[in-house]
Amino acid sequence: MDPLLVDLLSVVDKSSRKLDRDRIISAWELANLAHSGQMRLSGDPYITHPTTVAKSIVSWGLDTDAVMAALLHDTVEDGGATRDDIVTHFGEEVAQIVDGVTKITDIRLTGSAEEKFIENLRKMLLVMARDLRVIIVKLADRLHNMQTLKYLPLEKQVVNARETLEIYAPLAERLGIGIIKGKLEDLAFPYVYPDQYQHFIHDSTPYYAKAQKYVEILKKQLISTLEKDIPSVTVKTRLKHHYSAWRKLHRPGIDGDWSKLYDLIAGRVLVDTVAECYLSLGLIHGKYHVVPYLGISDFIATPKANGYRSLHTRIFGPEGRIIEIQIRTREMHEQAEMGVAAHWHYSETKSSGASVEKLVAGQVFAPVDKLNWVKQLMSWQNQITDNQEYLRTLKFDALQHRILVFSPKGDVFDLPYGATPIDFAFAVHTGLGNQTVGAKVNDKAVSLDSKLANGDVVEIMTNSKNKKPNLKWLDFVVTAAARHAINKFINNQI
Ligand code: MN
Repeated sequence: MDPLLVDLLSVVDKSSRKLDRDRIISAWELANLAHSGQMRLSGDPYITHPTTVAKSIVSWGLDTDAVMAALLHDTVEDGGATRDDIVTHFGEEVAQIVDGVTKITDIRLTGSAEEKFIENLRKMLLVMARDLRVIIVKLADRLHNMQTLKYLPLEKQVVNARETLEIYAPLAERLGIGIIKGKLEDLAFPYVYPDQYQHFIHDSTPYYAKAQKYVEILKKQLISTLEKDIPSVTVKTRLKHHYSAWRKLHRPGIDGDWSKLYDLIAGRVLVDTVAECYLSLGLIHGKYHVVPYLGISDFIATPKANGYRSLHTRIFGPEGRIIEIQIRTREMHEQAEMGVAAHWHYSETKSSGASVEKLVAGQVFAPVDKLNWVKQLMSWQNQITDNQEYLRTLKFDALQHRILVFSPKGDVFDLPYGATPIDFAFAVHTGLGNQTVGAKVNDKAVSLDSKLANGDVVEIMTNSKNKKPNLKWLDFVVTAAARHAINKFINNQI
């Protein structure tokens, strides 16, 4: 047997999921045949690429059809196979995933004119929304292509790396697939920002070296703090990815000061139950001082918009250094790293593809109500017909930085950076938006055009006699939902 296939099967055998070995072998053999004689620019036989992509898909816990589609993803476009070959041998479902990956691959986003960009992005999201396995296979494909990017001509390196930073990394983040996001960004960083990357590596090396030593001490201390009461505890540590550290260093308030990069090192405590999460928090606070004001975030009680759950606390760790500790169950951990892909691990649902419709209907992936973004994605496609509006929505709502704000009752709302109380009001309900006359943020009255910040508690003052939005709000709202509602009101008046 070919050593590449042996290698793939060893990963298949280690998977906690029951995969159909025979079907995977047949798919590999067809891929090998379809790509025979082809080489990657690295000089490796082409089959190394689909095999690597399939290994990622197996290790991310996806099903047999997704693994087969990963093996076959380039056979029609770049190899000697036809769609009919795939349907005949492996069925319509595998063929559809391959189709989707091919379509996404054909859609180039970077560098195209704006109008084209919108249309392409819309096409891409539509393909992806039909079956989430398509985007996950595509992310695995992109990951390997980024790992072998140095073999491409310089011009293509920059284009692909930029596309990775602008489209694929944010998509991975939005889907909650944290481990891929960080890897993609770090792979793209040196190509997109070569000079800044050189500086960063030069400046950061001593900090990372010190941090590496420090995490060993932290790990030992945390284990000894927790293992008596929670014998099954696992402590992991992680150093912040380069790209996200570099981005954060340039934020106002940090301004390049490494000592303010509190999350350069994070400790991760993994336990079995939610009760053990809170017990761990108590034990850690008993041993270390909690950093005042920076405080504790309870994303178990109030998960992030992409479904992320964890307890975060900032403590004065060994040597008085401020450290973030993240506490979560093993299941939460898997979801934090794998996001929607983790569904295939934890759900026994026999489903033919996790479409957005199924996600929204709650037929797959339990914390579906937390995946607001996926829901929004679908509703935009139904509501928004104007291309410019669609672009604004996607660019500003989906692919940009987000903030989380709260209603006085503690409901969480995921809004784009720069959102105002009016955006908040319309996010809650159109009726609330229309009746807004004032707002309080963290119990203080603010103007309606003030910018909200992460963690703000927003209270909307209404007057039931006031049933119409103010035209001037269009000057400062940033969400498509608010703009849409206000415009709709105006159009109905005319
Ligand atoms: Mn490929």
